[in-house]
Amino acid sequence: MPAIENVLIVGGGTAGSALAILLARAGVGVDVAEIEPAPTTLGSGITLQGNALRVLRDLGVWEQVSAAGFAFDLLGLRTPDGGLLAEIPDARMGGPDLPATLGMNRPALAAVLAAAVREAGARVRYGLTVDALATDGRVRLSDGTSAEYDLVVGADGIRSHVRGLLGIDVAPEPNGMGIWRVHTRRPKQVERTDLVYGGPCFIAGYCPTSQDTMYAYLVEKARPRDAVGDKCAHMRALAEGYGGVWDEIRADITDPDRINYTWFESLLLDRPWNRGRVVLIGDAAHACPPTLAQGVAQCLEDAAVLAELLLAADRLDQDLFDTFMDRRHARVRAVVEASVRLARWQLDGVRDADVPGLMGRIAAMVTERP
Ligand SMILES: Cc1cc2nc3c(=O)[nH]c(=O)nc-3n(C[C@H](O)[C@H](O)[C@H](O)COP(=O)(O)OP(=O)(O)OC[C@H]3O[C@@H](n4cnc5c(N)ncnc54)[C@H](O)[C@@H]3O)c2cc1C
Repeated sequence: MPAIENVLIVGGGTAGSALAILLARAGVGVDVAEIEPAPTTLGSGITLQGNALRVLRDLGVWEQVSAAGFAFDLLGLRTPDGGLLAEIPDARMGGPDLPATLGMNRPALAAVLAAAVREAGARVRYGLTVDALATDGRVRLSDGTSAEYDLVVGADGIRSHVRGLLGIDVAPEPNGMGIWRVHTRRPKQVERTDLVYGGPCFIAGYCPTSQDTMYAYLVEKARPRDAVGDKCAHMRALAEGYGGVWDEIRADITDPDRINYTWFESLLLDRPWNRGRVVLIGDAAHACPPTLAQGVAQCLEDAAVLAELLLAADRLDQDLFDTFMDRRHARVRAVVEASVRLARWQLDGVRDADVPGLMGRIAAMVTERP
């Protein structure tokens, strides 16, 4: 019998959904409280690395993910005018039988996971959150009801409300960079991510997300979030510094609703990530700027490891959470610190930084199962 009979998962994003699938499928009673009133239909693209794909395959959704997304094994490096500098084989961090990388539209990934959550038998309640909780698993929900769970999981993202309710006073730290993303049509020649380090921005890149779509991004120094003005005009002006495929992307930057601006931020909680029977996973516990595109992978790995431990144990105690930390904390810290360092090197204009060395070390580490 698993260590728990029922669980409340607060937040139905990537981490919460993955955990819900694994636990519900094994017969645990799973309630998911998601604050949004309905499944998400908006959002940009996402770059998923092999170790994220490995967990998605373990969740049983690889077929749907690979059909909806766009897989590739090479990374291109270009000059600002579009010239090709190098084509680098990407490490296959999920193993040789999975592609190195897959681009996907975020709502498509959310839909695949939501279908698997339903199929596994978890109960998802939208427009609901937790108003109060005790570390023994008692909660008061925002619909006025109270309940008691064997385990409560805060999977409610970087600005986690559950983290606040636990009194853990750690806030995301801005890294000094801001990213403009546009979700757009895929020109036929875009079949992988191409990056430009240079030109008017720190990074200019794009990633195919389906046969028809892709997302493109420009990373510059962070500006006040409420002072971004005309989003299309600003992103088009930044894109003026880039040629090649960027000529087509620029022409397609016309709809402010398809543009998103946000800051790079990071966060890492000291161990342990639990207080009694309440535990934090995913961005609620750790988040990194997307310089290594490891965010989703680390969230999925949290869910996979926690589920494995809960299903293998016959009781929930601090030893289980300590084992969870032994398998997660150092790995996550290495990813967060490397992601932050890559951003810092660019902000500081460090020319002799060993970028390939750092990326290679992280790739080797995450290729091993957590
Ligand atoms: C600009 C940017 C680009 C990124 N690009 C990539 C990338 O290319 N590849 C990659 O792997 N990662 C990327 N990431 C990181 C990645 O998006 C996150 O690591 C990942 O989405 C976190 O998943 P999560 O489930 O922990 O949290 P979230 O995805 O934030 O999900 C949290 C869920 O909890 C819900 N919620 C919030 N508050 C409450 C509440 N009080 N009660 C109930 N529910 C609540 C939310 O509505 C949401 O559904 C990027 C991040 C940023 C900021």
